[in-house]
Amino acid sequence: MRITCAGGGPAGLYFAVLAKLADPAHEVTVLERNPPGVTYGWGVVFWDDLLDDLFAYDPVSARRIWSAACQWDEYEVRATGKEVTHLAGYGFSLGRHKLLGILAERAVELGVDVRYSSDLSDIPPSDLVVACDGAGSRLRNADAEHFGTEVETGANKYIWLGTPHVFRTFTFGFEKTHAGWIWYHAYPFDDETSTFIVECTPAVWSALELDRLDAAAGCARLETIFAAHLGGQRLIDHRADAGGTGWMNFRRVTNQRWDNGNVVLMGDAAHTTHFAIGSGTKLAMQDAMALADSLAAGGPLAPALERYEHRRRAALAPLQRAARASSEWFERMPEYADLPSARFSYALSDRRGEYPSWRYLLHLSTQRAVPRAMLRSALGVRRRSRARRRPAAEPRVPQLTGG
Ligand SMILES: Cc1cc2nc3c(=O)[nH]c(=O)nc-3n(C[C@H](O)[C@H](O)[C@H](O)COP(=O)(O)OP(=O)(O)OC[C@H]3O[C@@H](n4cnc5c(N)ncnc54)[C@H](O)[C@@H]3O)c2cc1C
Repeated sequence: MRITCAGGGPAGLYFAVLAKLADPAHEVTVLERNPPGVTYGWGVVFWDDLLDDLFAYDPVSARRIWSAACQWDEYEVRATGKEVTHLAGYGFSLGRHKLLGILAERAVELGVDVRYSSDLSDIPPSDLVVACDGAGSRLRNADAEHFGTEVETGANKYIWLGTPHVFRTFTFGFEKTHAGWIWYHAYPFDDETSTFIVECTPAVWSALELDRLDAAAGCARLETIFAAHLGGQRLIDHRADAGGTGWMNFRRVTNQRWDNGNVVLMGDAAHTTHFAIGSGTKLAMQDAMALADSLAAGGPLAPALERYEHRRRAALAPLQRAARASSEWFERMPEYADLPSARFSYALSDRRGEYPSWRYLLHLSTQRAVPRAMLRSALGVRRRSRARRRPAAEPRVPQLTGG
């Protein structure tokens, strides 16, 4: 089979790997418009469920991803005028550059033809074209009516920045400025860097002049606002090199159908989920797994693509509900700002409003050091027992350079 993956993000590269593993005789090409090593964004988070899937589908790339990842073991919530509070949980993070590097290397090892600096004007003759060119997919937009594409724009403004300040763990930070509240989601993803996503309402964005400042001046303003959180370190906007700034509104993409002849949508081209639940990469890679399974079952292409779409729609639905509830919580954030510290962080963690009432009692008790350490250690046992089932070393804890 001749397969072209239009887009070399996590979806396209991982599907190329799985297609070659399924049958080395497949001719697989990935077309990526950027040169090697160039991409948007910083680190991404993921959890045990994705790792388990990665090990089941390709232990070689899974081992590389896991051993390059950082691990964090709770959430911290910091807000102006409130005590620091803590939320239970653990997860992993990895630089998007690193992830794409690992996947591209694996794809090339298996014989995939990865073509960089190559847009979609010259797609080779293919039995299957996977449209995995991201949320703004050109292939999908060319036939938006057929796919029934809808793009809903979120109200808040956000920017995906990086910083050399290595956060201790996943941190939500909220600052009250003269213009209103502005906040960040931050986490370390290697020994030297953290992701730092800043979000605010459009009114606060304009009042802080973030709509007018260029990338350098905008970062300087945010460094001043978040000085107490950044340990004197700077913020970096990737897009500054392109002469713009990275401020955006989240785009919620949905499609009525995912296939059109031999073209099928995958990853963000098919569906997006708000970054507040950090699952878009996972979903893109799980799409790749589902399409690989569906094709491996054999038979004509059209029913295989239908099976793929059906399986993924069912899996996506709960996460899309969670993502919507989560983004709406952040759009209403100022309404929660007057809550006392522990109630505020509990409201943040229960953004979907689904927790049973005992969770609040647990949350209150784990604000104290000893019960929190006990809960962390119980979660650590669970994490290690899951990890023992995977044939690889544990991920590194980042080497911290700041508090
Ligand atoms: C602020 C933010 C934070 C996020 N954090 C997380 C997180 O913590 N965890 C997580 O799981 N997800 C996270 N995500 C979501 C995640 O980044 C995406 O869901 C994921 O990258 C989707 O993968 P993809 O392969 O479908 O698309 P993309 O990663 O967008 O890849 C598409 C690729 O196609 C290429 N391309 C586009 N157009 C063309 C063209 N015309 N010709 C050739 N190539 C083209 C692009 O250059 C790109 O390489 C976050 C997203 C945002 C915005």
